[in-house]
Amino acid sequence: MMRIAIVGGGIGGLAAALFLRARGVEATVYEQASALREVGAGLVVPPNMVRPLARLGLAARLPAFAVRLEAAWEFRRWQDGHVLSVQPMGDECERLYGAACYVAHRADLLAMLQAALPPEALFLDHRCVELRQGPGGAELTFARRGGHWTKVDADVVIGADGIHSVVGPATQAEVRPRFADLCAFRFLVPAERAPALALRPVQTLWLGPGRHLVHYPISGGRLVNVVAIVPAGEWRTESWSAEGSVDDLKAEFEGWHDDVQRLIDAATETKRWALYDRDPLDRWTHGRVTLLGDAAHAMLPFFAQGAAQAIEDAEMLGVCLGDVDAGDAAAVPAALARYEALRRPRASEVQLMSRGREIRNHLPDGALQRQRDRELAQGEPLRQSAWLYAHDGLAPSGVFEPGSLKN
Ligand SMILES: Cc1cc2nc3c(=O)[nH]c(=O)nc-3n(C[C@H](O)[C@H](O)[C@H](O)COP(=O)(O)OP(=O)(O)OC[C@H]3O[C@@H](n4cnc5c(N)ncnc54)[C@H](O)[C@@H]3O)c2cc1C
Repeated sequence: MMRIAIVGGGIGGLAAALFLRARGVEATVYEQASALREVGAGLVVPPNMVRPLARLGLAARLPAFAVRLEAAWEFRRWQDGHVLSVQPMGDECERLYGAACYVAHRADLLAMLQAALPPEALFLDHRCVELRQGPGGAELTFARRGGHWTKVDADVVIGADGIHSVVGPATQAEVRPRFADLCAFRFLVPAERAPALALRPVQTLWLGPGRHLVHYPISGGRLVNVVAIVPAGEWRTESWSAEGSVDDLKAEFEGWHDDVQRLIDAATETKRWALYDRDPLDRWTHGRVTLLGDAAHAMLPFFAQGAAQAIEDAEMLGVCLGDVDAGDAAAVPAALARYEALRRPRASEVQLMSRGREIRNHLPDGALQRQRDRELAQGEPLRQSAWLYAHDGLAPSGVFEPGSLKN
């Protein structure tokens, strides 16, 4: 039986193991952390992520911990809170895209994926330090606590090890990080300390000159997740666990609407990280090694699609590797090449489009901002999101068709 080693137990790595195992493939995850703990708090679980989760039989578990959005992309003006545009979600989203849109705590999502995996499919405390590829397979070396080492042979290696991927170099792809000159503050506010506006099941974005702030409720409404994207200044640390200063955060939003100030005043601590993205890679795959998720296509968070793209990758890997005969030397590289051909154009497009939002969200007050606000007011946001939400690698046309829920 084909042995697949997945390096990295984030959302993408765990999902890949589930999709592969659902097709009878022996996939094992090796994660460097000694316990799966998610940093980064909340994330949007859009319909193009919910449909694949439904095919794993997991979407029905989302309402237990996630909040179903009634509206999303509610853009508001920074000073007076004027609503520039809003996208109804709820039932209309289900009708158009076959699934609701949720917001969830990342730890809850990760726990759901981990609980669905058999324990023998996940090795914690395994930090990949070396990967050697030969014509018939690969050998991985993992460092463990206490100075121990483990070697593992695999027919296929999947690098799901995030933005600082150690598997990446084995694909010989050229990685070009690009500093966006922005950083993100991220913090959680207990519901009882948040303004009522922030408790609605709505993804809300406040747009102002040079910065914007996003919030939505998570954890069954007990917490509000807040992300503020601001100019980076001197900040260059690209780590999701780096601590920032609440005073620095407050200074960034002086003069903004009262509800924004109240949210920030409720912050007791904040994470802060510099936003880098990557130019789309020219390749993801070399022989028996490929990438998925952020290792393949780290993107700016402006379309809230990074994890969704990782899940789309994971499902397609399952499809491409699901019926491969490990004994057929040419079949494995051919299946990985097919996976890359199906996924790289789509993920690269989302990467580049996310980059484009950076300028539009942060326009200084003036003629261009007024033009943007007029365009926002005239748009049909839910339908305009079709390129993201309707994409479905398993639909015959590649696009979810309303009424075809059994696909
Ligand atoms: C501010 C912000 C907001 C976001 N909001 C959203 C959102 O709303 N919706 C959305 O879909 N996406 C969102 N994203 C993106 C999303 O979080 C990521 O795209 C997603 O988590 C990527 O998952 P991954 O599994 O590829 O990588 P990661 O989550 O980074 O997981 C990689 C795993 O690999 C492990 N690892 C690393 N190196 C090694 C090694 N050498 N050996 C073994 N294990 C290793 C790590 O410990 C980690 O567990 C956001 C991102 C940011 C920055």
